[in-house]
Order: sequence, then structure tokens, then C-alpha cells
Amino acid sequence: MTNPLYDRLFGRHAGRETPFLHLPDGGSLTHAAFLALAARHAHALNAFGLGPGDRLAVQVEKSPEALALYAACLQAGVIFLPLNTAYTPAELSYFIGDSGARLVICDGRRMGALTPVAEAAGAHIATLNTDGSGSFAVIAATKSATYPTVARDPDDLAALLYTSGTTGRSKGAMLSQRNLLSNAEVLTEAWRFTEDDVLLHALPIFHTHGLFVATNIMLLAGGAMILLPKFDIDAVIAALPRATAMMGVPTFYTRLLDDPRFDRALAAHIRLFVSGSAPLLAETHRAFEARTGHRILERYGMTETNMSTSNPYDGERIAGTVGLPLPGVELRIADPATRAECSPGETGQIEVRGPNVFQGYWQMPEKTREELCEDGFFLTGDLGTIDAKGYVRIVGRAKDLIISGGLNVYPKEIEEVLDAQPGVLESAVIGVPHPDLGEAVLAVLVPAPGETPELQAIAGSVATQLAGFKRPKRLELIEALPRNAMGKVQKAALRESYRDSFA
Ligand code: ATP
Ligand code: MG
Repeated sequence: MTNPLYDRLFGRHAGRETPFLHLPDGGSLTHAAFLALAARHAHALNAFGLGPGDRLAVQVEKSPEALALYAACLQAGVIFLPLNTAYTPAELSYFIGDSGARLVICDGRRMGALTPVAEAAGAHIATLNTDGSGSFAVIAATKSATYPTVARDPDDLAALLYTSGTTGRSKGAMLSQRNLLSNAEVLTEAWRFTEDDVLLHALPIFHTHGLFVATNIMLLAGGAMILLPKFDIDAVIAALPRATAMMGVPTFYTRLLDDPRFDRALAAHIRLFVSGSAPLLAETHRAFEARTGHRILERYGMTETNMSTSNPYDGERIAGTVGLPLPGVELRIADPATRAECSPGETGQIEVRGPNVFQGYWQMPEKTREELCEDGFFLTGDLGTIDAKGYVRIVGRAKDLIISGGLNVYPKEIEEVLDAQPGVLESAVIGVPHPDLGEAVLAVLVPAPGETPELQAIAGSVATQLAGFKRPKRLELIEALPRNAMGKVQKAALRESYRDSFA
């Protein structure tokens, strides 16, 4: 009897007294100690009545115990459902109700607010705190440090991961053992991870990037992670000399570049910096190389597909691109309406097929049918191009495409022009309702520190670079763009704020 994902990620480390997690207090946890913790958690899940196929909803701060819940779920055949720690109890009621979770594990401080939410959904509730205390931990502590691993099939679900909700309501992506394992194997190989690696882990573990990409790779490779609770610049700078690799969202890299302490010497021990989850500006890529000599490796993926493309480890890492389709992953760019394949350089919707692609949206058969085609391709909703060498560029999301006076406007093209204007730190371009045009192009500009962009001069300069229908009908200043924990710009929120601009 086997459980492929548990066996490959965790089971093989049984008895290994090698470091797995380096903790902020200077302590560390070996692979064997982590497995013992996970086994106790697996018994505790059974004590709450959870068995194979049941869902466990988890909203706790990042800690070794929190990570051990993931391992425990795999070992016991329970479907793991981690939730963003920023979600409010009102938001959580949707996820708990929708998933039909049988148990909710939360931080003790949230117990009061979440108890009625769990009760309304007919779920049990227990607590687990960052210091390892809590009602769940108390039960787990009484249990055996070994657990008879439940047999699972590669097609069984391992996790229910909700999308980030950038374009609308989050959807539960059903991820099978095969989805996660195949992607972890491909990435470990592609990025050359080995047991000698120490990954600086400052990402959240409720999202595919920090949970599956980072953690699964390190487990497969057999190396260690420096587990930081969040991206704290001082802690990251202190940890860099002990790490061999770092994975981050683009804001990690811009924040490092903003710090004068971050220099070539501090990055010297690192063999690989990876970026993803949101677009990395080509300018950041170049500034990072100028400062450290490292070319950041950018990759592209999503909750539903795990990772689909990556810049090469050995070959050319091209700034502003997300690289080539990963081995085993098929990627095509097609007309969103007809699905006819686009020619090189032409913009269309990115479609992905392979063992990495999810099993469908939880309890959304219609949405699943719309986006997961019969031929196996998943319609990502991202727009992109592919060049003659096979490199993919993301142009934006289909939902952010602006149709102004019947003409397509791709926000990214306008944003690149605006970002280059004097006094502008960054920008976001959106479409808002307009009586004549249907949608009008509106640009929101964030001033560079201590500067006031000259809007008229900018409008003049933009007019020399962009066709009339692409030019913003209005330029607005904003202190900062609304972003979520993964650094994604919340364009839906911006559209809402500016919806009456031309009313
Ligand atoms: P929702 O689907 O609920 O609207 P979401 O798509 O933001 O939210 P995720 O699955 O976390 O949720 O994010 C996947 C998306 O992130 C991709 O579809 C893509 O738009 C974006 N993305 C990921 N990596 C990159 C990258 N390297 N460059 C540009 N965009 C990226
Ligand atoms: Mg999405």
C-alpha cells in the first residue's frame, strides 16, 4: 500500500536526523522530528473524526506546526485547505461553508470570532498557535509519534486550494497527488535543487508559491529551509549569508533593492533567486543584476496549474518573460473566442495542459466545463505571447483587457510607458465605464518618493508614444496601489474606486 505524495515528500525522510527547518529563534527541527510532529497531528485529526477525503480548513500563522498539518493531512488522506491569514471571519464563512470542512484549525486569538462561523457550517473548531500551544496541540501531544500512512491513489485529492480572488470570488482548485508530485519533480530538476540547498523561505504557506513550489521542492531535494514568519527586511538580510536559494514575489526584490545593505557580498552565497506570482518588471530584473550579478529566474504559474513555465537555469533568462514551458507541460496561445492557435508574437489566451493541471473547481461543474476543455487544455484567463524561441511573455489578464470604442487596449503596454515617466514610481491602467466608448482608459500613478509627477507633461509625452485610443483619458495620482499578500495589484478594487469617473 502506498501514498505516493506522502512517501516521496515525507516518508523517505524517516529516521533522518538532518536539519529540515531553521527557525527564527536559532533552533532547528530535523526531518525525523518534523515527521514525528506530523504523525501526532495525523492522529489528532482522526480524533476529531476526520478520515480520507474529509477537508481540514486551516487559518494559522506560519510555523513548523502549521507546516506539519500539511504533512499530517497527506499521511491521513485528509484534504488540506489552507487559508490566507488576512481573511476576516465573514470571508472565512464562505470558504468553510463551500468546502464542507469538517474541522477548522485557527489561531487562539481568532477562536471567539470563528466559533459561530464553524458552528454554522457544522464544523468542529480547534486552535493551534505559533508557539505550538492550543487545543489541537494538546490533543496531538498525547498521541504516538508514528502513524500508519493511509494508502492513496495518484488521482486522489491532496489539497483544495482557493485562488487568490484577484479577479472575483475565489474558486477552490482541486489538486491531486499527481498534480503536486509531478510539478515538484519537474521543478526540483529544472532548478537543480539538492540536499545541499538551504532555501530562504519568507513566503506565506497558504498559497501555492510558498506551500507547494517552495516546500515540496525542498522536501523532494532533501535540503533545509530557513523558515521566516514573513518578509521582514532585517531578518531576510541576516539570513541571506546562510541560504543558497530564495523564492520570492516581485515586492521582495524591490524591497531588497531599496535597502543599501543589500549588495553583491550579501548575495554571494546564493546560487538562485526565483520570482513569481506577479509580474517582475524588466527594470527590477536589470537593477538586481547590476547590484548583485544575479539574474533573477522568473517563472509563471497559478493555483490551478502549479507552475507552467520557467526561465532556464542554464540558458538565457530573459527579463520581462516567464521563460519556456516546463518539461511535460504543453502551452499554447490561442484566440480567446475561437481557440484558434495564434502565430508567434501574436497576443492570445494562454492555455495549459499536462499532469500539473488541476482536477476542476470544487462544486463548480459549470465553471470547470467552461475553463477545463475536453481536450485537456485549461484556459488560464491570462493573455500572452510566445516568441520564435519559445519564451512566453504575459501581457495581462483577459479580465483586465480594456475594450475602448471597440478596440483592444492591453494595460501592460500603457503601464510600461507610464512607469518610464519622470516622477512616476509605478502605475496601473484600468478600464472604467464611459458613455461613448463603453470603456475608457484610466491610469493611476504612484509618485516616486518625494516627487510630484507633472500630469500634463506626462499626458503630452504619452501622446507621442501611444495611439490615440490607447492614451489614458484621465490620469490620477494615488499614494500606493492596492496589493494583496502576494504582491498582486487588485485591479477589481481600483475599477470599483474609479467606476464613476466618466458617469
Ligand atoms: P483569481 O483566480 O481568484 O482571480 P489569482 O489568479 O490572482 O486569483 P493565483 O492562482 O494566486 O490567483 O494567481 C495566478 C495568477 O498570477 C496567474 O494567472 C497570473 O495572472 C499571475 N502570475 C503568476 N506568476 C506570474 C508572473 N511571473 N508574471 C505575471 N503574472 C503572474
Ligand atoms: Mg486566477
